[in-house]
Amino acid sequence: MRAQIVAGNWKMNNDLAQTETLIANLKKQEQTSNAEVMIAPTFTNLHKASEVLSEDNIEVIAQNMHFASNGAYTGEISASMLKSIGVNTVILGHSERRAYFNETDELLVQKVDAALKNGMRVIFCFGEELNDRKSGNHEGVVEGQIKNALFHLEADVYKNIVLAYEPVWAIGTGETASPEQAQDMHKFIRKTLADNYGDSVADTVSILYGGSVKPTNAKEIFSKPDVDGGLIGGAALNAEDFFAIVNAF
Ligand code: PGA
Repeated sequence: MRAQIVAGNWKMNNDLAQTETLIANLKKQEQTSNAEVMIAPTFTNLHKASEVLSEDNIEVIAQNMHFASNGAYTGEISASMLKSIGVNTVILGHSERRAYFNETDELLVQKVDAALKNGMRVIFCFGEELNDRKSGNHEGVVEGQIKNALFHLEADVYKNIVLAYEPVWAIGTGETASPEQAQDMHKFIRKTLADNYGDSVADTVSILYGGSVKPTNAKEIFSKPDVDGGLIGGAALNAEDFFAIVNAF
């Protein structure tokens, strides 16, 4: 049985007071599904969030981290720093990090390795751009992103890896991949894993979909057999909407 996961990526939103308010609203929501629930506030609010939610079923996760354990990397945050405040999961490879901060496959290899070495769980993001889909090369692009950043890993570490397919053209645009497009790609991703690592790995890795998931479309997307949950941006900033998605399973 694969874990069902709904993770809210807050991106660069919410100051401390807004973070406390949103978390207080999240605590009021009722969960009716078995999905694992996660939220990723900004670095400055992670400590507060992990304190306030220490007794709850909402895991506080990070949006990014640096690969080094410490040193002269002004402005960066390491895995051990995250772990010291109770954060044990990190999102890596988000398309905004790739596009605006030049994160390459090579850099992501270092980040993934550092997170796993520190015993963290990784939500690894990837996805094609609109041009790739239009030219019919979306599977090739996604396969490359996965192979380049993850296929040096041993099979046994995949218990700490969650994949998040996020077509760039669907992020924050209001345009969602159709449930069929998501299913087709997730099936392809699972086959790519199976070809390299065998079915035992492929069948146990959770693959999330991300890109304009909303309460109105979550149920249909999550009903697809290879979609194990979602990485939610905009809709994660509203507690009712976020839990409507959590409960869409
Ligand atoms: P969105 O963002 O739900 O606002 O499209 C998803 C993401 O970037 O993870």
